[in-house]
Amino acid sequence: MHHPLRPPPTPHAAPAANANATGWAALWGRVRADYTLGVLVLGVLVAVVWLLPFAVYRAWQGNWVAMANDLVLSVLLSAAAGYAWRTGDTRAPGWVVALAIVGGIWAIGVAARFAALFWTYPGVLMLFFLVPPRAAMLLGALAVAGAAGLSWSELGGSEGLPFFVFTALLTALLGYVVAQQAQRHIAAWRTLSLLDALTGVGNRRLLELELAQAARGASVGALVVVDLDHFKAINDRLGHDGGDAVLRQFASVAQAVLRKTDRLYRLGGEEFVLWLPHGERGAVQALLERLRVAVTERVRAGEVPVTFSAGVALHVAGEPWAACLARADAALYRAKRAGRDRIEWPAADAGVPART
Ligand code: GH3
Ligand code: MG
Ligand code: MG
Repeated sequence: MHHPLRPPPTPHAAPAANANATGWAALWGRVRADYTLGVLVLGVLVAVVWLLPFAVYRAWQGNWVAMANDLVLSVLLSAAAGYAWRTGDTRAPGWVVALAIVGGIWAIGVAARFAALFWTYPGVLMLFFLVPPRAAMLLGALAVAGAAGLSWSELGGSEGLPFFVFTALLTALLGYVVAQQAQRHIAAWRTLSLLDALTGVGNRRLLELELAQAARGASVGALVVVDLDHFKAINDRLGHDGGDAVLRQFASVAQAVLRKTDRLYRLGGEEFVLWLPHGERGAVQALLERLRVAVTERVRAGEVPVTFSAGVALHVAGEPWAACLARADAALYRAKRAGRDRIEWPAADAGVPART
């Protein structure tokens, strides 16, 4: 039997899902989950542990240029990390900190000479975790050129230059390799974690992510809960593998019928959710009718045609999307009770004016 939907759990894959979490455990969790955020937080550590005390020391020395430099850098690093922390967006802060690294190395070269040489190594490494590789390469070259030029005599002039350039290049290469691999792993992991392994359509987590994003204040259109009819009997007849094949057939037929902007997710078992963003009632009904005919004609369990029942609900702007899904689920329940192989709307949606 069909059972009503439970409230969805918080998605783990959402980048900003824990944006409001506090405490050291939460901090550590987020830093571990997002390496750019990790590098930005490292920037704050540099600011607090090194640059700020140095700003005080420079002031005590009367080296006001160096003091201003250290101070501006720490404020920039902290502000960028704070912004990334609050919004979950690391793109713009990544650029700010990358530029601050290059500017900082130049400024250190002007104000403190040889120190710029040392800062070039962590600086160049960090660049690859903050901006795309080409930009990191270019900014890294600027940092190396600035440090070498401004600390020319401390470097040992043209005698030290090849060593400096080569070791900085090696550091850049290390940054490139590690950042690229991390990025590729994260992308692969994200894809795997958001797709259903059996059918290749989106899974429940992707549904939650995408709807939460789309439902911010606006109507997301129509949500449809689809449940294949008498699936237990299909499994009993064809075995579990045969049942799996039917699920794959259904997913492929549904994807062929759906429009470009429509989304298909597998909720679990033989239950799917369709999200139709252009949720005008007549068009939704026509589409689902087309789907019903296509599935009856093209999805087979052995020789027997496969049918489905569906419940549809129109999302009202401002309403939690899960509430809309629950209404669709209630309508599905009625479709089952009324004999299956049909599409039902909640009674309340019958009078809802058409929307796009
Ligand atoms: P109804 O028409 O009322 O929906 O009847 P039903 O038999 O389809 O409903 P029910 O929810 O009782 O049965 C669903 C079955 O789907 C039970 C379960 O063994 C099977 N199932 C769940 N997940 C999978 C899966 O991944 N693969 C296969 N082959 N079967 C699955
Ligand atoms: Mg079911
Ligand atoms: Mg079923």
